[in-house]
Amino acid sequence: MNTFDLDQAYIAHTYKRFPVEIVSGKGSLVRDASGKEYIDMGSGIAVTSFGVADDTWIAAVEQQIRRVQHMSNLYYTEPCARLAETLCRRTGMSRVFFGNSGAEANECAIKVARKWAAETKGPGCNVIVTLENSFHGRTLTTLAATGQEHYHELYQPLTPGFAHFPAGDLDALKALCAGGQVAAVLIECVQGEGGVIPLDPAFASSLELYLREQDILLMIDEVQTGNGRTGKMYAYMNYGLHPDVVTTAKGLAGGLPLGACLLGDKVKDVLSYGDHGSTFGGNPVACAAALSVAERLTDAFLAGVGVKSALLRGLLDGAPGILSVSGLGLMLGLKTVKPAGEVVQACMENGVLCLTAKDKVRLLPALNIPDDLLRRAAEVIIAACK
Ligand code: PLP
Repeated sequence: MNTFDLDQAYIAHTYKRFPVEIVSGKGSLVRDASGKEYIDMGSGIAVTSFGVADDTWIAAVEQQIRRVQHMSNLYYTEPCARLAETLCRRTGMSRVFFGNSGAEANECAIKVARKWAAETKGPGCNVIVTLENSFHGRTLTTLAATGQEHYHELYQPLTPGFAHFPAGDLDALKALCAGGQVAAVLIECVQGEGGVIPLDPAFASSLELYLREQDILLMIDEVQTGNGRTGKMYAYMNYGLHPDVVTTAKGLAGGLPLGACLLGDKVKDVLSYGDHGSTFGGNPVACAAALSVAERLTDAFLAGVGVKSALLRGLLDGAPGILSVSGLGLMLGLKTVKPAGEVVQACMENGVLCLTAKDKVRLLPALNIPDDLLRRAAEVIIAACK
């Protein structure tokens, strides 16, 4: 049996895969089993921040893997401690809990919010509010946090204690908070799965102000937007926000499973011994990879992400068949005249791998994609949209 047949026979049918088997790559070029080359405009859904098989990343992983590939969290390991320090220094947050995925990072944030509120406001204060059209993960609790009904339908009952309101509607949030039961608000600065929709900056500022007044936690889901994706280390920095909790994963370790829940001063001591844990969380190889990624996300490099974003937007904006371009940095969504799926299919046939998000074509290239590849990819996308 070949890979397609084995996959069809033995893997749960949760992913509608494209008929392409990727076998190798370098940077932003990947190759399928037939030898066909593609420009990768998806980077594993915002994971391979420095592309595929990047030499610096490989060296960091290899060095750690030769030392210790895993150690229980009952012992100290240097990459884990150094990464936590780096993330705190780069964000002003105070402590980190490491897991393995975005959903787990959000689970941790939700536990922290519930415990903080129970201890400071009483057990009745346990509601987490998120935005309509948001996406926060696939576990039962993060599905409950996800503000899209269609994800909920088949899995009732979900974890109780969640409510949603439309982005931009502060009055709707105020109505939800009126009973004094809201512990935290969890938002994405750019809704990724929801269609690459950035938050309105004025709304973001007034939201933060209101939550401060009410002593409600501001928690920001940076699973997709984090680690340089939007041209800042974290997307909330584009908005001048001061979150109490930040969650991240995807690009954090550049291609190994790692999630992090960053705790600000207000909640830094909420978790104590035995409150939370993860066998693989903070794995030294994943943390060594993440350290090498973080070290390369310098101010100059992040400014370069902004330049690449402007280049790509400039090429795509106003092209025939492209109605609008949304997003921040190298996280862009194209509203196209043709159905997004059709555009993605045509791009793939012509050697460019793109993604969709709702009705949009979604682009999440590696942060270091060379300009000539961006130009070539844009040509193919524009031709597919015509
Ligand atoms: N939060 C956001 C904003 C996401 O985009 C995703 C995944 O797409 C998740 C959470 C879930 O992350 P994971 O698939 O690593 O659990």
